[in-house]
Amino acid sequence: MKPSLIPALLLAGLLLPLTTPRSLAEDRPLITWQGRTMGSPYTVQITGTNLTEAQVGEIRNEVEQRLMEINRQISNYQPDSELSKFNRAPANTPLQVSPEFARVVRFGLELSRRSHGAFDPTLGPVINLWGFGNESTGHTVPPDALLESTRRKTGWKLLSLTDDNELLKTIPDLALDLGGVGKGFGVDQMAAVLQSHGLTDFYTSIAGEVRVLGLSPRGTNWHLGISTPVDNWRETDTMAAGVWLSNQALSTSGDYQKFFLDAQGQRQCHIIDPRTGRPVQHHLAGVSVVAPDSMTADGLGTTLFVLGLKDGMKFIDSWTNAAALFIVRESDGSFRQIPSARFNRMACYEP
Ligand code: AMP
Ligand code: MG
Repeated sequence: MKPSLIPALLLAGLLLPLTTPRSLAEDRPLITWQGRTMGSPYTVQITGTNLTEAQVGEIRNEVEQRLMEINRQISNYQPDSELSKFNRAPANTPLQVSPEFARVVRFGLELSRRSHGAFDPTLGPVINLWGFGNESTGHTVPPDALLESTRRKTGWKLLSLTDDNELLKTIPDLALDLGGVGKGFGVDQMAAVLQSHGLTDFYTSIAGEVRVLGLSPRGTNWHLGISTPVDNWRETDTMAAGVWLSNQALSTSGDYQKFFLDAQGQRQCHIIDPRTGRPVQHHLAGVSVVAPDSMTADGLGTTLFVLGLKDGMKFIDSWTNAAALFIVRESDGSFRQIPSARFNRMACYEP
């Protein structure tokens, strides 16, 4: 559904809802709040229903409890999380993990297998080395020898997960980093809490991971913006494109929010190419993925960013229920948008 009026535009890049002009004020009740989780802002918008203050308080409390629970499972930043315990665990000793943690790892490993290792949830030690991890103190280009010895501590094939959720590593230093899928999983869990309260029309997000259900305050599909991939994009910067979604998720990965410039002025971003152990270097500035749920969209976004335009396009077309918009940085600094075959149909894309 593509309405003629422009409803509230929500930002998928950094995620702050834009103020709606008065003349376009919402015509259905809108309950909204923001908080913080996983080092990022999260947003909830609920519409289509009237809730009492007490009901909103109860739902909000439950959402926050669930987010804390997820952090206790998959956070790299909490020393007592299940993930941190696994990272410290010895080799060849199966560790029983929660079903939720197992689900995220299982999906990460599926992405690794299907992408032939472009997505690798065991890159933790290398990510730290480049200054983008929980143990990092600053951004530096690591010496080659250190990079090589650290790379030997990674590899998704050194990790296994049984059907009974027993996680095992075959070398002691193997360390998980679920940063490429974790926020998406968090959004799905927030959505599950909202649905368990019978809510059918809402927007949920953590940083650039968004999931929408039902209709927006205007009674239309949700109108989301994909930010122009300019360095350190802010609310006042422009949108590259708009999409209209319902019962779908949107995720954006790119090299323009978390990066540093090395001594040669070369951009070094937070997404690492497992084939080199170095930040991805190509002409892709960002990629946005639409999928049925946020964990899928999140994981695919990171994977496509590693794969780059050509291989990424092939990969997303092999994924029957997802589509992507690739944004290429041209040599003159301008941006070119290249949608995958299904993107327009799935997203009602407005370039
Ligand atoms: P996202 O912002 O969702 O694209 O995720 C980026 C995060 O994923 C990084 O901050 C790392 O924690 C992690 N990451 C980086 N490179 C990879 C990779 N090749 N495979 C899996 N996770 C990665
Ligand atoms: Mg991701």
